[in-house]
Amino acid sequence: MVKIYKTVVTVNNEQEGGGIRKPMKAKINKSTLELVDGDITREDVDAIVNAANSTLLGGGGVDGAIHRAGGPAILEECKKIGGCPTGEAVITGGGNLKARFVIHTVGPVWRGGNAGEARLLASAYKNSLRAAKEKGIKSISFPSISTGAYGYPIADAAQIALAMSIEHLKGITSVEKVRFVLFGESAYRAYQKTLTSIAKDDPSISVVNP
Ligand code: ADP
Repeated sequence: MVKIYKTVVTVNNEQEGGGIRKPMKAKINKSTLELVDGDITREDVDAIVNAANSTLLGGGGVDGAIHRAGGPAILEECKKIGGCPTGEAVITGGGNLKARFVIHTVGPVWRGGNAGEARLLASAYKNSLRAAKEKGIKSISFPSISTGAYGYPIADAAQIALAMSIEHLKGITSVEKVRFVLFGESAYRAYQKTLTSIAKDDPSISVVNP
């Protein structure tokens, strides 16, 4: 007799990219802002944003993951563009990704906070959202720009990331959904805490599920 044993796979909540299953959702006018714990390369949205470096030639972290998952066509386009200054954004196709576009933006390296980091991080988000609007994009997913190798403190970065997204969604735009795909529970919790406190002070934001 053959016995079939069922394998039970337990998901470790501390695991990076997917530990927390339930997203946090907030409504701003008719648009949605979502926080999820996951891997951005799997997102089924119009565009994902890459935390690139200014050479656009690929790197580690989320940049490496996007190029690995998207294939060589993205890098070819990046080479043709030739680079991107800190705080700006460029757009390429999505290669083998589900997303039709990749918006490559360059966040600042954290140098202690007095080197224009906040302004540059805000620009990276603003210019990415502007590029999305120019293409008529409806759904876009961001990673937490600058908080990996570039060392930006996550609570400060979350405040800027969420404030810039909310400001964009309050204006006239094609964008209907902004998702933050946070890699690991601690990044997710930092964004969740910040969004909760922003929503508390802003009656035009309603949290659907905290
Ligand atoms: P930066 O150089 O802008 O700091 P990194 O790629 O080093 O960029 O890190 C940015 C953030 O992206 C970090 O919080 C990191 O944990 C996260 N990250 C890494 N891989 C992924 C992925 N596959 N999906 C989503 N986020 C990711």
